[in-house]
Amino acid sequence: MGKATGFKEFARENLSYAPVADRIVHFKEFSKLPDDMQTQGARCMDCGIPFCHNGCPINNIIPDWNDAVYHDRWREALDILHSTNNFPEFTGRICPAPCEEACTVNLIGDAVTIKNIELSIVEKGWQEGWITPQIPARKTGKRVAIVGSGPAGMSAAQQLARVGHEVVVFEKNDRIGGLMRYGIPNFKFDKSVIDRRMAQMRAEGVEFRVNSAVGDNVSATELVNDFDAVILAGGAEKPRDLPVPGRELNGVHFAMDFLTKNTKRVLGDDIPDEEFISAAGKHVVVIGGGDTGSDCIGTSNRHGAESVTQIEIMPKPEAVPNKLITWPNWPMKLRTSTSQEEGCDRDWEVSTKRFIGDADGNLQAVECVRVEWKEENGQWKLNEIEGSEFELPAQLVTLAMGFVHPVHEGMLEELGLTRDSRGNVAADDTNYATSMDKVFTAGDMRRGQSLVVWAIREGRQCARSVDEFLMGSTTLPR
Ligand SMILES: Cc1cc2nc3c(=O)[nH]c(=O)nc-3n(C[C@H](O)[C@H](O)[C@H](O)COP(=O)(O)OP(=O)(O)OC[C@H]3O[C@@H](n4cnc5c(N)ncnc54)[C@H](O)[C@@H]3O)c2cc1C
Ligand code: SF4
Repeated sequence: MGKATGFKEFARENLSYAPVADRIVHFKEFSKLPDDMQTQGARCMDCGIPFCHNGCPINNIIPDWNDAVYHDRWREALDILHSTNNFPEFTGRICPAPCEEACTVNLIGDAVTIKNIELSIVEKGWQEGWITPQIPARKTGKRVAIVGSGPAGMSAAQQLARVGHEVVVFEKNDRIGGLMRYGIPNFKFDKSVIDRRMAQMRAEGVEFRVNSAVGDNVSATELVNDFDAVILAGGAEKPRDLPVPGRELNGVHFAMDFLTKNTKRVLGDDIPDEEFISAAGKHVVVIGGGDTGSDCIGTSNRHGAESVTQIEIMPKPEAVPNKLITWPNWPMKLRTSTSQEEGCDRDWEVSTKRFIGDADGNLQAVECVRVEWKEENGQWKLNEIEGSEFELPAQLVTLAMGFVHPVHEGMLEELGLTRDSRGNVAADDTNYATSMDKVFTAGDMRRGQSLVVWAIREGRQCARSVDEFLMGSTTLPR
């Protein structure tokens, strides 16, 4: 275990951040790990029933690597970490860390800084040259096609390549990584982190084919015929729209259009000004209070927005939840992201009535109304508060209200797969098999809009199921 009295002796140390004024002038990562991670590992009390381990969707064996870090056995810590997580440098950067909410120390004080320890282990592994390709000793001769190169597709691909299958990843975009590439901005997630893993995976035998849209310039049916198994890991890319009057005005955009064009420019692509969506000098209204909304705020401030306002239809959560009621589960509580800290006004229980434009069709303002939630017959109902309408000046609105389900047109319609009641590809989480023989699905495409850590879990578990399907048995972990 860590140090028996460590949690009493040492305070939790968080990431430190560059000052706001310095960091909003660039798109680089701006956080720094504490220098002494060993004392942070020592804070793990090895509580007996590690709730953190269950709180983590990939069941990272957290107490064991905390102990190894405390005792300066970093190589061992890395091996334990990799036994459950293909990409700890992804989760160590952007996981919301439900493990820390479930940490037993969290009941009485500040949780062990699990996510930062995870990141420090894996980054040390890269620095020391401990992370090398794991090339399979034998090839099976089986071919697996994976559609989509987000965390679900990448983790499935790595698992399957390591047991000797020939894996080809088809990606419709021009770069690998899914939402980690073009959704999450560079200042939260530097893209070299994906490229480094891609190089490892290529050496392990994974082939990546970009600009390959299955169901469009690559036939889905041919893929199913040509490969021994197919995994659909195309994400849940259909954005939730806001069809109020004025939706067609210039200046109202889906968040992903705004974020993607920005990241492409940051990565050096030539995006002409007439295509680029700039927040410079504009009043920006971000509609939606989640991660995507935060990313729009951070990007707008880096463009030099005049003001940024974020509105959310749900009520403002409590700042400090009652841990005795919520622990070890993920509590609804007021969270402030680094992007929100950089400057924005936040408002809750606000609904959008219409977008107001000028004579040339350019957005000028958003008309909003305050709402209240009332429970009626066991159901929460939304009511507009009469006379509470107000306007926010806006030349740019980003719609960041989440995603409804995968895109149905193209690949999914061509294959005619059964969908669940929410419009996701139907498959259970035991074998991840769809309604079509030898076709599997994982990640947001199966479970709906979720998190990177859940996508990694699904990719790993789906890989195990595919290996079993191809070989009759499997040594891959679930
Ligand atoms: C802006 C934003 C910020 C987020 N921030 C966080 C965060 O901080 N932390 C976190 O944990 N999660 C975050 N998420 C959620 C997280 O990114 C997703 O849950 C995760 O990436 C899902 O992984 P996936 O592999 O299932 O799908 P995706 O990452 O969506 O990848 C799917 C890939 O499939 C490709 N594809 C789709 N259809 C086809 C086709 N027909 N042919 C070929 N390729 C196809 C797509 O182009 C895409 O590259 C965020 C999401 C967004 C939008
Ligand atoms: S992957 Fe997320 S939940 Fe799991 S240990 Fe890391 S930060 Fe915690």
